[in-house]
Amino acid sequence: MDITSFDQFELNRQLLNAVADLGYTEPTPIQQKTIPISLGNHDVLGIAQTGTGKTAAYLLPLLMKIKYAQGKNPRALILAPTRELAIQISKSVTDLAKYTDLRHLVAYGGLGPKTQIETLQQGVDLVVATPGRFMDLYRAGELITKDIRTLVLDEADKMMDMGFMPQIRSILEIIPTKRQNLLFSATFGGRVERLSAEFLEAPVKIEVTPQASTADMVDQVIYDVPNFRTKVNLLEHLLTQDDFQRVIVFARTKTSAENIYKFLTRKVFDPGQVRVIHANKGQNTRINSMEAFKEGNVRILVATDVAARGIDVAEVSHVINFDVPLIYEDYVHRIGRTGRANRTGQAITFVTLSENYHVEKIERIIRMTVPRQPMPAGVEITETPFDEQQAMLREVDEQRRKEDPNFLGAFHEKKFKNTAAGRATQQAKVKAAKNAASRPKSARPGGPRSAGPKRNSSRGGKR
Ligand code: AMP
Repeated sequence: MDITSFDQFELNRQLLNAVADLGYTEPTPIQQKTIPISLGNHDVLGIAQTGTGKTAAYLLPLLMKIKYAQGKNPRALILAPTRELAIQISKSVTDLAKYTDLRHLVAYGGLGPKTQIETLQQGVDLVVATPGRFMDLYRAGELITKDIRTLVLDEADKMMDMGFMPQIRSILEIIPTKRQNLLFSATFGGRVERLSAEFLEAPVKIEVTPQASTADMVDQVIYDVPNFRTKVNLLEHLLTQDDFQRVIVFARTKTSAENIYKFLTRKVFDPGQVRVIHANKGQNTRINSMEAFKEGNVRILVATDVAARGIDVAEVSHVINFDVPLIYEDYVHRIGRTGRANRTGQAITFVTLSENYHVEKIERIIRMTVPRQPMPAGVEITETPFDEQQAMLREVDEQRRKEDPNFLGAFHEKKFKNTAAGRATQQAKVKAAKNAASRPKSARPGGPRSAGPKRNSSRGGKR
């Protein structure tokens, strides 16, 4: 049976009215599949990304189950990897439970626990927490777990990336074994499979977003950009176009994010129009920046991947990948910020010579080739500084060696001197590398590539 309306679920009037207030008319695919199964109290393994409506998919049946305020101890627990996601989930709880008297606590680190403890002492039905803070509150004797009957792990893959596995294990030990479990993850691989085998009981696996489908919805383009400085010029050019109304600029590292922010506020925009979020920003600053961006008071948000987790902003007009993410799934997360809930958006990626390698891997994940566009007229193309050029060539060599252990390297054969002749030789090498990068895959040295993306070992690091 096709489910085309929320009324078809066995949800109560309070929840249906809240759904209507949010303007949801039709359940999304993950909601269509998850809600009936979860209402039947089955364990669920959901493979779905942010942007698919997964939060309401697990919240509606959960809220239906815990129904109204009861007792003092929480009866359901939702774990999330980051405070931003925890806050986002908590906001959805507030919205969806608005016609009920359910009480919930959102608990995350970085703030003193005092208010969280006070909330607990008044009694809560549901806790949304990051694993570390949940354990802290438990150890402090402030959180009684004996009544927890439902556990949700949201973005389980990210939790593992961020090293939360030991905390999750500890949590599983201190909550009742008789309970319903729901695990959501954007990706499904060996680790998530093992985790689900460990703690889900005969789960129903629901997969809604083959990774390509978010990508299908978003208009994607690539600009080949020779160097950092030209990326900055291109960014400036794009951000001053009228249709770039609400933009997230993604950077790989906090330093890069900070530099982009400094450049934009120093030269191009009023500082009030731009904010930056990354791991080094204080908790309140991050929350304030995100709120300001959501409310439309800030037009441009510069962010690292980890800091941007859980950001839920409708109507992001453009996502700009200032650099290509090395954790390839992050590309899908990044571009999922635009084109959400059927709105169209554009994702633009700046790619240097040495980043082409990663683009190929990403294209394999999203199962499509992202079209390349010529640099817009009017963008100044700056000459690549010698050191930057060398670093890129060295990286290209390394990438080729990774694909083909017998590859000897083009770069290391000769030491280029920073002289006119040296630069000329180097330019020739760059040209050759560029040609190689744009040649059809089958014609490239190294033969067919190894299957599947290799996950980057620096994940969850200092981003
Ligand atoms: P999520 O994947 O849970 O982060 O949700 C992504 C966005 O879709 C959020 O802005 C939700 O408010 C919105 N959303 C969730 N369910 C629906 C629905 N059935 N119809 C329209 N928008 C929805």
